[in-house]
Amino acid sequence: MDTEKGLLIVLSGPSGVGKGTVRKAIFDDPTTNFEYSISMTTRKMRDGEVDGVDYFFKSKEEFEALIEQDAFIEYAEYVGNYYGTPVDYVRNTMESGKDVFLEIEVEGAKQVRKKFPEALFIFLAPPTMEHLEARLIGRGTESDEVIKHRISEARKEVEMMNLYDYVVINDEVIHAKNKVQTIVEAEHCKRERIESRFRKMILEAKK
Ligand code: 5GP
Repeated sequence: MDTEKGLLIVLSGPSGVGKGTVRKAIFDDPTTNFEYSISMTTRKMRDGEVDGVDYFFKSKEEFEALIEQDAFIEYAEYVGNYYGTPVDYVRNTMESGKDVFLEIEVEGAKQVRKKFPEALFIFLAPPTMEHLEARLIGRGTESDEVIKHRISEARKEVEMMNLYDYVVINDEVIHAKNKVQTIVEAEHCKRERIESRFRKMILEAKK
């Protein structure tokens, strides 16, 4: 019987929300059974980072040549540097039946949504979303300016959420990590997935 294809899992969200920290917590947990797709970037390596572990570090020329070769599922420019997801690793890993996990910024996530509409999209939201209501109503101590700013920031975040299947509020890293793992588990239990596996089995048995 064919191996069932793995899921493509995309974790994204606004800048500074803590995507990297949640991703590290997920992959530090030995019970995690999905594979992390290491991105390519043109940004400088930071202290403690390892080429091929944290990122594949490339020059701008190398990265642009890879863009020409269609080597990315998605790529984006973020704060003056390129970041991209290598297509080969993702496709091969999914084909082998393993789930692949991407932690990318929102522009890249939009591109993945177009190419892989069936992927699982999780939006990591700041903890302030949870307190938003109370904060927006406030205690009457905030200036109109501050409240207006909060409303416009919140509106942007809600609009960004649109293309995602799930929203996880990053109140505590451990909670966010657990929620992401639970969402992936639930996705594997979706009726459509199980049903198509059974249908395949029945077809195979008839042969
Ligand atoms: P940093 O430079 O702090 O490691 O990452 C900066 C941002 O780039 C983060 O929001 C991270 O999620 C995002 N990022 C990392 N890899 C990729 C990628 O392959 N594609 C896209 N679009 N964003 C990425």
